[in-house]
Amino acid sequence: MDIRSQIGVVFHLDKCIGCHTCSIACKNVWTDRRGAEYMWWNNVETKPGTGYPTAWENQDEYKGGWEKKGGGITLKGAGKLKGLKNIFHNPNLPTIDDYYEPWTYRYEDLFNAPEGNDQPTARPISLITGEPIEIKSGPNWDDDLSGSPLYGRKDPNFKNLSDAEQEALFQVEKLVMFYLPRICNHCLNPACVAACPSGAIYKRGEDGVVLINQNVCRAWRMCVTACPYKKTYFNWATGKSEKCILCFPRIETGQAPACMHSCVGRIRYLGVILYDADRIHETASASESDLVAKQLDLLLDPNDPKVIEAARKNGIHDSTLEFARKSPVYRFVKEWGIGLPLHPEYRTLPMLFYVPPLLPVLGQVDDQVYETTTEGLFSTIEKTRLPIQYLASLFTAGNEGRIREVLKKMQAVRLHRRSLTVGDVSAELVKAALQEVQVTPEMADAMYRLTSLANFEDRFVIPPAHREEAIEAMESVFEEKGATGFGFRMAPARGL
Ligand code: SF4
Ligand code: SF4
Repeated sequence: MDIRSQIGVVFHLDKCIGCHTCSIACKNVWTDRRGAEYMWWNNVETKPGTGYPTAWENQDEYKGGWEKKGGGITLKGAGKLKGLKNIFHNPNLPTIDDYYEPWTYRYEDLFNAPEGNDQPTARPISLITGEPIEIKSGPNWDDDLSGSPLYGRKDPNFKNLSDAEQEALFQVEKLVMFYLPRICNHCLNPACVAACPSGAIYKRGEDGVVLINQNVCRAWRMCVTACPYKKTYFNWATGKSEKCILCFPRIETGQAPACMHSCVGRIRYLGVILYDADRIHETASASESDLVAKQLDLLLDPNDPKVIEAARKNGIHDSTLEFARKSPVYRFVKEWGIGLPLHPEYRTLPMLFYVPPLLPVLGQVDDQVYETTTEGLFSTIEKTRLPIQYLASLFTAGNEGRIREVLKKMQAVRLHRRSLTVGDVSAELVKAALQEVQVTPEMADAMYRLTSLANFEDRFVIPPAHREEAIEAMESVFEEKGATGFGFRMAPARGL
């Protein structure tokens, strides 16, 4: 066992209201700079939709992530040889049009325009060229299903849906949507780290935050191709790549990242998780149907004495272990099993987990009336409004059974709470619902509390920083280029 600690994150999608406050908080703190205008380290997408950069999930075009080859995995488009071949022209990079051309408005014209018969206007001007532009796209252009026939239909997650199922989704009375906020996943098997020819990207030993050393980056942009989530960006002014840093200066001082601190829907949770790095390669190479289960297996019980002993041996501080025992991320993902990784088939082992949205699945319209009664709620998961295949394509590499199981757990919690607060659900129905998904009433109450009533301290359980562990634990990414799993070079030796 090679135990490491990682800051993990959970986003609860049923609670996201799509307000973009998180994106604005991040923009104001980190990317309000020359060369970074088009970057949104945090963005929020409407699903179904193509997102930002457009159709980022289409790996036939972008060639991001890892693919299974023989018993192992290789980088899809940015490995040693493939990278060398494309070093002077990389055909798999998104262009500025795939993101959008950033703009501002000539506000001074509102004040300085000469007197005339018309109201002065502030024309949009490109933040890249400084010239007037006609705005054709933006980072959330398909927000709230705007233009859904144009954008929603191109969503790569529709590939497993029949034409009739797709068509049904675009009829006005059947339109359905939810929001998907995205940041870097600070993956356990980061393709960006493995692809960098300069060894500039690294995973911090003490907490797994993935960073780009600005002094070492040589602008090859292999990380942009390799990250299947398109969460590394090239700064055209500095000539270096950049990405979400999980607000590490804030985390090190005990504060939640800016996007999480400002989240209006309180959908975000952060906490320590422990994992076994010895099993990264085996986990990332699993067959598609096993990927989620294997990934969750990798996360270890922080209360297990054997895990505690092995973690201590690896130099993990007692304070980190104590915070791992209180981690809300561990509870959602491992204890309750309702947190799922986004696109596990990319095999980067993301450490951001999503509780899938139950509401767009359940919402029913019967005789033109929005159905809100509790009658037969379970059957509505089977008669789902948003096809289960769609959610399975996003969160379980196509494993529909796993998505159903998670949704049924969430629904059982709702039935249980409804019977306590409204009282219109029979005790037998609640008992059967809880038993089916092996959730006790106490567990259901805990899930409800952390979902609905959690305060700041419950949502963000931030361990004390241990920078000294990183210095001892850093892996030479240069030597390990193209390999899987990054972090410790060897079991760290303490002392001088
Ligand atoms: S999401 Fe994963 S692969 Fe992409 S930049 Fe973040 S750590 Fe790297
Ligand atoms: S601030 Fe929170 S609720 Fe608003 S869009 Fe971002 S994640 Fe969703």
